[in-house]
Amino acid sequence: MSNKFHQPVDAAKVPRFAGHATFMRLPAVDSAVGLDIALVGIPWDGGTTNRAGARHGPREVRNYSSLMRSTHHVFKIEPFKIANIADVGDVAVNPIDLMDGLRLIEEGIAEIVSAGAIPLSVGGDHLTTLPVLRAVAKSGPVGLIHFDAHSDTNDTYFGDNPYTHGTPFRRAIEERLLDPRRIVQIGIRGSTYSPDEHDWAVEQGVRIIYMEEFVRRGAEEVMAEVREIVGQNPAYVTFDIDSIDPSMAPGTGTPEIGGFTTREAQQMVRLLDGLNLVGADVVEVAPPFDLAGMTSIAGATMMFELMCILARQVDRNRQA
Ligand code: MN
Ligand code: MN
Repeated sequence: MSNKFHQPVDAAKVPRFAGHATFMRLPAVDSAVGLDIALVGIPWDGGTTNRAGARHGPREVRNYSSLMRSTHHVFKIEPFKIANIADVGDVAVNPIDLMDGLRLIEEGIAEIVSAGAIPLSVGGDHLTTLPVLRAVAKSGPVGLIHFDAHSDTNDTYFGDNPYTHGTPFRRAIEERLLDPRRIVQIGIRGSTYSPDEHDWAVEQGVRIIYMEEFVRRGAEEVMAEVREIVGQNPAYVTFDIDSIDPSMAPGTGTPEIGGFTTREAQQMVRLLDGLNLVGADVVEVAPPFDLAGMTSIAGATMMFELMCILARQVDRNRQA
């Protein structure tokens, strides 16, 4: 039972600024066997089209995740007591070969999935979510809750290159990893390359909730619709840190003003409680553009929020 689960380093014995940097100060383990939730880094930004640096995300998020404590103050749960969670390290990557990079990421996540654990990853640019979806959607298309300033459903870049962080969800729909009628994108904003940039996604059935609609309706109403659309079938959550306003999360490759506050982001993720999630990620934290660690803190905290939702799901399924 809970006394067998991995526990974070005791902050009363080793202060939170000391010791090895692992996600949430949990033990670093070699395999996901026996875990309910595997925290994993994907240090790869080979799909970046503008400011690079998200390859450095996992290491800095590990560092700042040491600020997380053991209890979620709204749910009143201790995630490490209701689910067995550990840091399984980083997947293997290839920084100079895009196709090999995608293959290695899929392999690394598939290993976690076949061990029976839920992957909660930190990227990496948003293209990393494509190979993750290839690993978690092996038995059929899943739904997607997608927080982002960008739809990431463009077709090609720089000629006919299909794999960039602006295209993962188009590829995932084409590969039938995602059911487009169960995809909701929240927070989309900013200038686009053309007036019809989002038409393809909308034609497939993707629900795009632009930032303007979010501001008009508010988090509770919007998330009620999200839960309705996604339903109880398996779904994946992807959190692009650029959905948060650059005043609160400047360390990212493609910042767009007019974004969510960190408080709105936390509120929305908590409202995902009760869904049937096969995995989640936080992507696009780019420490070279960060200030005072604020983006890595935001990323680590969103990871904590997602981890608590997943831990509650594990606990619920164990009781059932
Ligand atoms: Mn994105
Ligand atoms: Mn984005």
